[in-house]
Amino acid sequence: MRNKLAAGNWKMNGTSASLAEIDTLITSHPTPKCGVLICPPATLVGAMAARTKGSAIATGGQDCHADTSGAHTGDISADMLVDAGASHVIVGHSERRQDHHESDADINAKAKTATAAGLIAVICCGESDDQRVAGKTLDIIGAQLAGSIPETATAENTVVAYEPIWAIGTGKVPTLEQIGEVHDFIRGALIKRFGTEIGDNISVLYGGSVKPSNADDIFAVNNVDGALVGGASLKAVDFTGIITALENS
Ligand code: PEP
Repeated sequence: MRNKLAAGNWKMNGTSASLAEIDTLITSHPTPKCGVLICPPATLVGAMAARTKGSAIATGGQDCHADTSGAHTGDISADMLVDAGASHVIVGHSERRQDHHESDADINAKAKTATAAGLIAVICCGESDDQRVAGKTLDIIGAQLAGSIPETATAENTVVAYEPIWAIGTGKVPTLEQIGEVHDFIRGALIKRFGTEIGDNISVLYGGSVKPSNADDIFAVNNVDGALVGGASLKAVDFTGIITALENS
């Protein structure tokens, strides 16, 4: 049985006042039947981990550096995230691939460092609108998976998130057939590379404009083990609807 995970990515949103949303989440889902993860901005990781201690909600970072320490002004290491109480870290989000020119090799190195530090790496992949229109989606995803996932990946230390770039924050959602096609492809690629024991047990999340209103349908798609959620994770009232849909899937 693969682990189901509802993961929230707050991106560059939230101050200490936003932590009140977490109290609502804990109250509404004291014992969720799926994993629940919130990745706040780095400034809130420690406070969120402290606030969620003893609850079922896990805390994650949104990125980490590939080096364990050193002269990298403004960056954050995997060990620092662990020290602050994080259990997960997102690597290779398309916004980092675009804004910070991160390559598959960079993401591979980050994931390797993160998992060596004891974090679960949530490794993102996804095609652009142009790439989909050009019929290159599966080629792009295949190359990103091959380049970004380190050899050291296991079902315990790695989660994959498929996030079509054109669906992130746009309200545009692929058809269920399109989601299913890519998730089946990812599952096949993971099994081919890592064998059934690992490849069939790595959770694969869908991300891109997931909301309470479309979550039931998305979670019913084969090989969708949860969601990576941006906008709808900021408000507990929305995110609880997504958690409930995943619990019932
Ligand atoms: C994301 O940023 O990973 C994301 C999926 O955003 P949204 O849910 O807002 O589309």
